[in-house]
Amino acid sequence: MDKIYLDYAAATPVDRQVFLAMEPYFSDEFFNPSAVYLDARRTRENLEKARSEVAGCLGARPAEVIFTAGATEANNMAVQGVMKRYPEGEVLVCATEHESVLEPAKQYRHKLIPVGKDGLINLAKLPGLITNETALVCIGMVNNETGVTQPLAKIAQIISRANQPRGGKPILFHTDAAQAPNYFDIHIARLGVDLMSLNGGKIYGPKQSGVLFAKAGVELEPLIYGGGQESGLRSGTENVAGAIGLAAALNAAQQNRKAEAKRVKLLRELFIQGITAKIPSARVNGSIKVSSPHIVSLTFPEVDNERLIMELDEQGIQAAAGSACSASDGQPSHVLAAMGLPEKDIRSTLRFSFGRRTAEDDIRRAIAALSKLLD
Ligand code: PLP
Repeated sequence: MDKIYLDYAAATPVDRQVFLAMEPYFSDEFFNPSAVYLDARRTRENLEKARSEVAGCLGARPAEVIFTAGATEANNMAVQGVMKRYPEGEVLVCATEHESVLEPAKQYRHKLIPVGKDGLINLAKLPGLITNETALVCIGMVNNETGVTQPLAKIAQIISRANQPRGGKPILFHTDAAQAPNYFDIHIARLGVDLMSLNGGKIYGPKQSGVLFAKAGVELEPLIYGGGQESGLRSGTENVAGAIGLAAALNAAQQNRKAEAKRVKLLRELFIQGITAKIPSARVNGSIKVSSPHIVSLTFPEVDNERLIMELDEQGIQAAAGSACSASDGQPSHVLAAMGLPEKDIRSTLRFSFGRRTAEDDIRRAIAALSKLLD
């Protein structure tokens, strides 16, 4: 029996074209891009081409693109990079951020931005949280547990208004957009952000590849010191294959995003309709209207989520109890807790996430398996 993978928010398979684009850099084109002979200069040129491609997808300049080893590093680079420069400052961080934003933020003076039951920030209350000490605001684009999307352009306007009367250092706006590029426009001018993290491993590119976009003029303290690669912000011999894979994956994701968003949205609708018809007690968490189409968080009251995942696995269906990263420590999801879910409901919640290989038949089989298990 074919397995049904419904955990695309945790990992995506590397696309065949992406893999082929990367392959030469493990063999014939293995050169260190900092070396001076002709072959190495060609490797450098191809690395810079990848940077330009990423910049093109973002509407940014190549010098504003820093390659990292995944989104965790990009998020740390943004938060720590800014806060080390402003040690007396404060970071405002959305309560539902991924741990790789929350945990570095907690190392500095910080305040959590609350969300409502729908997972959304209350925009009217945001100006009241900003003070003279606010140096950085971190609000993710697509939540990795619920799919809920925050209105970044409107938030950018609020931050910009707060910036106007301030002489000196402006408040910087960072977004973790790791889950966004398969379905959304990620042009930085439209989003209004100063810093943005991306992740190759979520867009059919290689794991441990990522990008931090940092707008020209934003000053960052490096996390990693050494030979000064990536404009001194990320020392270490570049992961050329990773950067080239990420660029190819990002390009493809952005080209296909509209059609794929439409297709996946229909699949999610089918899934939610089927589940709620067969299991009337099931509840969707967070705003479905304002969300990325590839994720749904469902609570099945009184059901032990870990056990249900095992039982689904036995039926060949792969889902998650929350984010793969926090699943390992057994802690109930901070995202659902911030949305006001009691712990017993959090422990009855599963995340299903869809992607390129998800077909209608997979959805029907998953509905049938779930309704049989919960009968
Ligand atoms: N940010 C978000 C929104 C994510 O979904 C993830 C991965 O689950 C990360 C950051 C961290 O990505 P990585 O573990 O690949 O660095």
